[in-house]
Formats: sequence, C-alpha cells, structure tokens
Amino acid sequence: MNIKNPAVLPISLGRSTAYLIRGKNGHILVDSGPPGSGKKLLKKLSQEGISPEQISLVVLTHAHLDHSGALEDILKAGGAKLAVHKDEAPALEQEEELHLNPVRPLGRLVKAFIGKKRKKGSSEIKPDLVINKELDLKPFGIKGKVVATPGHTPGSVTVFLQTGEAIVGDLLMGGMLFRRRRPFYPLFASDVKQLERSIRLVLKLKPKLILPAHGGPFTPAQVETKLLQPRRIKRKKARRG
Ligand SMILES: [Zn+2]
Ligand SMILES: [Zn+2]
Repeated sequence: MNIKNPAVLPISLGRSTAYLIRGKNGHILVDSGPPGSGKKLLKKLSQEGISPEQISLVVLTHAHLDHSGALEDILKAGGAKLAVHKDEAPALEQEEELHLNPVRPLGRLVKAFIGKKRKKGSSEIKPDLVINKELDLKPFGIKGKVVATPGHTPGSVTVFLQTGEAIVGDLLMGGMLFRRRRPFYPLFASDVKQLERSIRLVLKLKPKLILPAHGGPFTPAQVETKLLQPRRIKRKKARRG
C-alpha cells in the first residue's frame, strides 16, 4: 500500500519517518528525524527540489528524540516556525527523554538501547506556535488541521489533511523488525486509555490512510481490526492487570 497523494512525501530518516506536505506557497514538515539526521533530511528535501526556506512550518508530533532530534538543523537552515502542543512543549526543554513508559515487552528492551539524552543546546528550541486543542493549517496554505491525540505522550498530535491522510506520529506503529505492514500499539504510552481514545478519534475523522512514523501506512480498517476490536482490548486490559 502506497501513499497516492503526491503532495505527501515520506522522508525515511533511519529510526523514523518524517513527512513533507507540499503547499502552493510553502511546505509543512512533520517531525525532523533522530539526532544527526539533519544533513540527510536536507539532502532528501533538496533531491525533491525543496530548499529549507520553502518550509514555513514544522509540526512536531511529539518530543521523543527520534522525532525532534534534528529540529535545530532544519529550523536554523531555513527559519521555519515550530508548532508544538502545549502539553509537549515542556518535554522539549528537558535534557532527559520523557514519557518512555513501556506498554509491551519489546518497549522495555528498546528502552535499554535508545539514547535518553538530548543534544546540548536542544533545550534552546522554543515553539513559535503552541497548539491547544487544534491548529488550522490554512494560514500555512495547506487544507488540514493538527489535532491533539494524547496517549503516547501527553502532547502528541495528529496532522489531518483534507485529502484524507492522517499523520499520527507514534499513536500506533508498524512492527519494529518484522510485520511492518500491520499496526501495533506503540512501545511506550504515557496513558493507555487516552491512547485508545485518541486512536478512536482518528478513525472517527474518517481518514483514508494512516501514516505512522515507524512502519505503515495503514488503512483505517486495519487499525480498527488489529487494535480496537473489543476482544483484543479486553485481552490487553487483562494482561495489563
Ligand atoms: Zn515516540
Ligand atoms: Zn518514534
């Protein structure tokens, strides 16, 4: 399954995928990739004929390092504005990586291996726009909106495009090594109930395609069947105790 919309460009940056949304008068970048991926990101953009100055806004789905690690590079290169949810902004200022509460055994394993320290100086990144409930992207030339979808972290957001794509960050994900083409719950969640509510909210907004930062993309039907069918939830809840 591929993204059919040429205005939505996935940019694979090793540990995570950022997305570029092309607009008529400027583009929006969703996430920046892990620390050290700035050069790769700028190179991939340039291969698409996009200069950093053409990016008017960077939307951060959440502050985890594999999404925010190269923010400084892209912001400095072109002067884009940064939009972050109000409940996520504090995490950006922390030197320690926050909200790594494993919800699956693999989460515990991965937690032991990932970098937990931000790059020195990254705490100087300040959002230009603080998202409360929603952010309309019309002023940035894109038909769509950013909606709060907490649960993976308190201030996680999803970018909905009128063309039907939902860029969900780590609200859900593909398999880490295998089965990247089926949806799983994320490895970490600050609030599992909130996470389930947010997945329901995303489906309620009737996207055509769900684009996570790891693996995917997925159809809403896949997400519904694999993550939200009552039997599965019950089983997961039981396991959680
Ligand atoms: Zn994350
Ligand atoms: Zn991630």
